[in-house]
This record gives sequence, C-alpha cells and structure tokens, in this order.
Amino acid sequence: MASMSPVTPAAAEPRRSTRLLSNTKPADADADADAEAEVERERSTSRGGKRRRKAAGKGTGARKRAAKGKRKEPESAAGAMEVEDAGSGINGDVYPEEPDSEEMKLIEEEEQADHGEEGSAETRGARKRVAPPRAQRRPEASADHFVGEPIPDDKARRLWPSRYETKDSDSRSRRSNDPEEEIGAQCHYTSACVDDAIFNLNDDVYVKAGPNEENYIGRITEFFEGTDHVLYFTCRWFFRAEDTVISPNLLEVHDHEHDQKRVFLSEEKNDNMIESIISKLNIIYVDPSKTPQERDQLISNSDLYYDMSYSVAYSTFANIPAENDGATDSEVASDISCEEGKPVADPVGSSDARRETATLLDLYSGCGAMSTGLCLGAALSGIKLNTKWAVDMNEYACNSLKHNHPGTQVRNEKAEDFLALLQHWNALCQKYVVHSSNSSGSDLAQMSNDDEDDENEALPNDLFEVERLLDICYGDPNKTGKDGLWFKVRWKTYDPSHDSWEPIDGLSDSPECIKEFVQRGYRESILPLPGSVDVICGGPPCQGISGLNRFRNYNEPLEDDRNKQLVVFMDVVNYLRPKYVLMENVVDILKFADGFLGRYALSRLVSMRYQARLGLMVAGCYGLPQFRMRAFLWGALPSRVLPKFPLPTHDVVKRGVVPNAFSQCLVAYDEIDDKRLKKALVLQDALSDLPKVPNYQPNDLMENRINPKTEFQRYIRLSRKDMEDYSFGDATPSPKACQLFDHQPLELSTDDYQRVKQIPFRKGANFRDLKGVQVGENNTVEFNPHIPRVFLPSGKPLVPYYAMTYIKGKSPKPFGRLWWDETVPTVVTRAEPHNQIILHPNQHRVLTVRENARLQGFPDYYRLFGPIKQKYIQVGNAVAVPVARALGYSLGQAYRGALVGGQPLFELPENFASVGQAAATASPVGVVEK
Ligand code: SAH
Repeated sequence: MASMSPVTPAAAEPRRSTRLLSNTKPADADADADAEAEVERERSTSRGGKRRRKAAGKGTGARKRAAKGKRKEPESAAGAMEVEDAGSGINGDVYPEEPDSEEMKLIEEEEQADHGEEGSAETRGARKRVAPPRAQRRPEASADHFVGEPIPDDKARRLWPSRYETKDSDSRSRRSNDPEEEIGAQCHYTSACVDDAIFNLNDDVYVKAGPNEENYIGRITEFFEGTDHVLYFTCRWFFRAEDTVISPNLLEVHDHEHDQKRVFLSEEKNDNMIESIISKLNIIYVDPSKTPQERDQLISNSDLYYDMSYSVAYSTFANIPAENDGATDSEVASDISCEEGKPVADPVGSSDARRETATLLDLYSGCGAMSTGLCLGAALSGIKLNTKWAVDMNEYACNSLKHNHPGTQVRNEKAEDFLALLQHWNALCQKYVVHSSNSSGSDLAQMSNDDEDDENEALPNDLFEVERLLDICYGDPNKTGKDGLWFKVRWKTYDPSHDSWEPIDGLSDSPECIKEFVQRGYRESILPLPGSVDVICGGPPCQGISGLNRFRNYNEPLEDDRNKQLVVFMDVVNYLRPKYVLMENVVDILKFADGFLGRYALSRLVSMRYQARLGLMVAGCYGLPQFRMRAFLWGALPSRVLPKFPLPTHDVVKRGVVPNAFSQCLVAYDEIDDKRLKKALVLQDALSDLPKVPNYQPNDLMENRINPKTEFQRYIRLSRKDMEDYSFGDATPSPKACQLFDHQPLELSTDDYQRVKQIPFRKGANFRDLKGVQVGENNTVEFNPHIPRVFLPSGKPLVPYYAMTYIKGKSPKPFGRLWWDETVPTVVTRAEPHNQIILHPNQHRVLTVRENARLQGFPDYYRLFGPIKQKYIQVGNAVAVPVARALGYSLGQAYRGALVGGQPLFELPENFASVGQAAATASPVGVVEK
C-alpha cells in the first residue's frame, strides 16, 4: 500500500534534483557533459530558495536573463513527422540510403540554430510587483498614516508570528537590501489613511506600478509599522490574464479573447509602503460554473471579478473552493489559502466509484501509445477509460491502433476535417434523431455541400441503387479539389469492391438511408457529440518550431501552417467541451518564440474557462532507460478536480530545464525532499531478454523467447489482461507467451553494414574507430595522413565524408554504438545510424522496432503495422507509455474526485512502475494522503 508525503508547495521555487549518476553515462556522453554543465549553471542562477513574486518596479531586477545554450535533444518535429514512401526490402521498405550532404547539413544547422536560440527567453511568467526601492523611501515626508489603535500585541503576534520573531536586532532595524528578507513589525493596524482616503484590511486596491505599467491589483492583508519605522501594507496580488504566463501577446490573437473584467487570485504577496496604494476597487468572487448570463448579472456592479486562482508553479489556473471564495473581513487576517483544484459544483467521485467508465477521444493518436497508457493508468485508479474514438491522418498508424484497440472508432483523416465532420454530424443527429419526426429528404438541401460540380452528382438511378450507407467523412475522398460531406455507399447487387464515396447532395433521393445511417451511428456513438466526451488527449504536431531559423516564423508562430494543429486541437476541445483535456508536446513549444505556442495553449484553455496546469515530464523518471522530456498540459472543467502531476518513481538526472517562465514546471522532487526513488534503468534492464537478430530479419514474428531477467522485462511482457487493458473487451487475445513481434531492425545498406561490422563491440565506439580516422585538437576528427583511405567493395569510402564533417567533426554520433549501462537521450523516428547512436551493443545492426518500443515502454503485446520505417515512426512519435500511464492514474484519481488539494504534484503508489493487475488485485493500488 502506498503512501503520500507532502510535496512541493505551489508558491515555492524548488531546487530541482540535478544529481549526476556516475555509472549511468548516457550514450551521448559529450553532449551530455555540456548539458550537465548547463544544468549546473542553471542551478546556480536559480538557487537561493524561494523566489517570491516580490512586487514590481524599477531597479528591482524584476526580469532575469535566462541561462544560455541548452542542449538540443536529437529530435526534430520535422523528423518526427516524416512519412516516407514504401519501397522494396523488408515489409516493402528500401534499405536506408546514404544520407546526402544536404540532409546532414540540415540536421547540423538545425542543431546549431537551436543552440543559438535558447537563452534568449526572458523570465516572464509573472510580472513582479514591488514598491519603490527601499533606498528611496522617505517616510517622514509622507502624510499617510495608520488609523486607530494598533491591533493588540498578543493578537498581532498570534496572527503574524514571524513578523515578531526576535532576530538580530541589528539586521531588523537595518534597511536591508535583500528583497527576500521578511520585514519585522513593531505593531499592526486595521486601517490606513492614504491621500486622505481610508483603506481597511481586505480591501482590494490599485497599487502603483512601474513607469508605463498598468496599476497593479491586490488585496490588503496586513498593515504594519516595520522595525525600520516605515509604514507598510502587505498585498496579495491579483493577476490580469496578461500578467500571467498567458502574456500580453496572446491578447492580440483573434481566435479567442479574455474577459477584461476577469482577474486571478494568486498566493503571491509582498510588502510595500502604504504610499503606493492608489485607490479602492470592487472585486467579487464568481463561482466559475455560473452561466455567462448569471456571471454578467453578478459582476454588473463590480469593477472586476475572479473565479480562479493562478500560480506560477506549473502555470496553474484552478478553482477556489467556495468557502474560500470571498474577501470577507470577518477575521482580521483572513488570509485566504487557495485549496485549488477542487470542483466547485457537481462533485463527482465516491468511494464506490470503482469501475466507473469514461470515454476518451485520442486526437493525433498515432499508433495510440498515449491513450493506451492513460487507460492502463486510469484502470489502476478504478476508472475504466475507454478509447472510444481516435483520429490520425497516417493510415499505418491507424492500422496499428485498430489492431490493438478493436473497439475504437479509428478515423484515418485530418483533424481539421474531423472537426468539420463533427459539426455536420451534430446537425444530422439533430435532424434525424432529436427531431426525427419532421425530417425529410428536403432537409438535405441544407446539409449539402456548397457549389458541387456536376461530376459529383449521384450516379444514374437505373444503374445504381443505394443499399445502405457504411461511413461518413468530411473532406475530399475522391480528390475532386473540393471539401464536403460524403457518405460511403454500398450499392444494391454490387459487392464491397464497388463501394464508393458519394457527396451528400448526390444522395437526396435516399433520405431513408441517411436517416437510418445517422440513427444507427448515433446509437453506436460512431462520432462524439458536444458534451459526450469525457476526456480528450492528443499531441498536435507543431512542425513549425523546429528546423532552420530561416523557415520558422518567430514573430507569428500561429501564422505558420505547420503549427495550425494546435489551433485545431483547441477548436475541437472548444466544440466538444470534454470534462478533461491532456495535451502533449515537445518542450520546444515552451521555448520557441518565448514559449508563444505553449502560452497560446494555456490561453485558449483559460479563455474557455477550463482549469489548467502545465508540467514537464522526463520519461526516464517513470522507469525507462530513456531521457525524453515532454510538456503536458491538463485542462479540467470547473466542475471537476484538476489532475496533479505524478512525481517520478525513478532517479534520473534532469538535463536541460526550460530557462524561462516555465522553469517552475518541471515535475520533480525538490533536492531536499526525502524520496524513495528507484535507480534509473539502463539499456540492459530493458533489452537483455530479447533474442539475437541479424541485420536482415524478414519476419516480424519470432517464437523463441527466453525468460525475463528483470522486473522491467517481467512487467513489459505481461498479457493484456494482467495489465488491465480493456481494449479487447472480455476477449483478451494477447500473443502467446513465446511470441515476440516487431523484433526487426531497419536493414542497413550494404555499405553501412560493411562499416558497422568494423565498429567494435565496446562502450563509446563509433565511426572514430574506423581505420584512418584520428581525433585531433578540440576533439575534432581528421584523417590520419599516414594511412591511405580505405574503400568499400562498392567504391564508396569506409569513412563517409558526412561523418567526418557532422557538427564540424566534433560529433561522436555517426555509427555510434549504445552500451548496456547507458540510457538513450530520446527514441526518435528514424533508424539510420548516420547521425545518431542507435547501433546495438553487441550485434551488427541498429536497434529493432521492438527494442525502440521497449525503450518507449510499449507492452510487448502491442503490435505495430505498416512498412518497417512506418513502425519506427509510430514508436518514435509516441508518448512514452509509462508516462501516459502515470498521468492516467492521476486522471483516474481526479475523475473520482480524489487527490483534491493545493499541491500540484502527488506521489504514485509504491511499485507503480511494475505493478500489473494480478499484483494490484492482491494488494489494491491506492493512495494514502498524508
Ligand atoms: N500521441 C501519439 C503520437 C502522436 S504523433 C502516441 O502517443 O502514439 C503525431 C501524429 O499526428 C502523427 O501520427 C501524425 O500522423 C498525426 N498528424 C499530423 N498532422 C495531422 C493532422 N492534420 N490530422 C491528423 N493527424 C495528424
């Protein structure tokens, strides 16, 4: 049985775990050394305990420069999304080609471009607010004063004990320049007179900001005379949307807007001189589940309103529980503590909620790793999450998903077409289901595609008669050049080979068929309707944020078509309004253009009135020999509990933290926390039970398995049933225990195979070990002038030119061998050894699809489909299954109404990484909150 221990408080800036593991050198040792040095640099700038949001103003160093030069992960979204043509060879693939110089150059430039860019971002998650610097204060010149008697000493000491702690009296009375040091108090008051106006505790006020800045907004929580005899008030800040991580730029994005009257209550406070109070304003709390009309009525007489809290840590926007909603002055020191995340209405979850079911839509599903993991994790918390719908434009990925989730409606189409289809489908359901009595063929006129050409008209009736409709789509299935609504038709007396897509207005003489199709489709929920989806998950590709600088739209990232899917994803959320949202993406969405796209995603969710929380998770921390950091964004309706992020289970070195507003989003333990983390996994833990395979391995099924050797291997080999994977319903046709799928490597070209055979079986081996190469100054490779160049039978050089020049000859990656005691930085979509370390430790081949799948935490029963390169793409694109599983557990807990409370992180149950259902049943998985 697991236990929970208290975790990082939301407002504190934790010192993240950055220890180095001595015996677990990652494959890319040089790059990692850089990264480690960087982490050290990063740490030294962010150390110093709490970085409180001291208030704004000049001269306070409100903005810090970010650390420079982060390490780039060897993956690009562009590479990640590549779709290559099938050719000959294994599964119809061609041998990997020699990369041309252009390809190598592109990758190289990409790496360098990325290095140059990082570090430009400013710290801007939360504008700081401060009174004028202390040195400028002249209390004696001010006519402002406290009013009435001081609060009795014993009461003041009880309410604000730390203000009265006797410290070194010298330092108390000295005017400290340390903005972090708490100011000691002589006595406290309940009112003050500033510019002839009276202000009381709990008043909401405008506070003077820096030049050219809008006034700040805050709530007075203390009035006190400092030991330095200055008159202070303590202010708890409200944030306007543009003061939060959402940032002012987002107010210019025209697909959504923020209510000008809405502010967010934070936990951030600091002390300012009472002269900086400008005037009172009226801010009311509004329950976020109120309808817009109710809200409008409530706020009509107030200046501003708030319905959620905001915290820089994990960029959290969350509910404020009803009992803490107000600014009442009943208790002098009503120091509201947000217990965020609690549902404010319609609470769900009860102890007998076990096996509650919920529906999931997986957008940009790929082969389904993310939803698979979510479902596995949710099951462990007692929620039967069912991937009801999945959408991906890649046919092979859809085939994989279909095989592994036979009950899922898998839609092989573009997400933008899917959204249009949903809108049409809703209209059809309204006509034929909700108002079915008065539907008729003439209604079709309204649904028909605009300006259809004659070529799209129905086929002559005497030849073809519709038997029934089989499917529906929006788009252009017949490549006519126009998008519209189409039905797939089975023709009477014709076999399925004659099925065809027909436009809706070509079917105007078959209204009954449409009606019958829509009614059946509605019954079977072939498509989601607004409000019918519990959870939407997905990783919209943002290819416009990687690649060469000259191709990236830094100023307007949303204008780049390659980033449009982020908008589409949010449009789908807006249309369907699921209870929960989980979006995954590369960390670059928080880096590129000062994190514009990440901010946009948060901004959309918040403007749709979702609670939101952002976290950066490292896959290795959940029990994989792979680093892989990714960004995850939760969204939850105000009526639900906002999920937390699951703390790591494994002790992995964190490399490269985002150096800007998102630096407080890393999901990790504080360095100081007592934690029981398991040792990081290495390659051997994950792969040592896999049979030997040659470079050419034509079969995707092997029958000779040896026994598992590690806990990881035992877990990854569990059956569907034992993992509690419901996707096959009651039938659980897991492969037989002896069967192993997809243990095939991408076959090396003849030349590359010759080269690989000469790379020794040794840790750290790579092309530098080939004959004729020597390492010169600055770790740069050069040809040994005394050794004649060696040529392969094909006439090509043994040591290819691209390897010598890659990253100006400094890279150890070309033809690099992995070693058993290493972790890989990130499993990518390509399997060529030319510019990445992907050779097996002691076999002359690249890692197989299954080996990559293991490193991504796919259960062995999960089969992949398509040409081999497509399988690598599906695996490389995936969300690491254990990460999704941990998030699924968190989702399940939130869904059940558990894990309420202000902490953004929680501890997973003990042995979570390896617990299967059998074990879970014997000792139910649960969380004990401390
Ligand atoms: N979450 C997935 C991986 C997603 S990778 C997993 O865990 O397995 C992103 C996917 O988006 C790719 O499979 C790609 O085919 C798909 N994709 C890219 N553009 C798309 C679009 N416009 N519509 C639908 N799918 C798209």
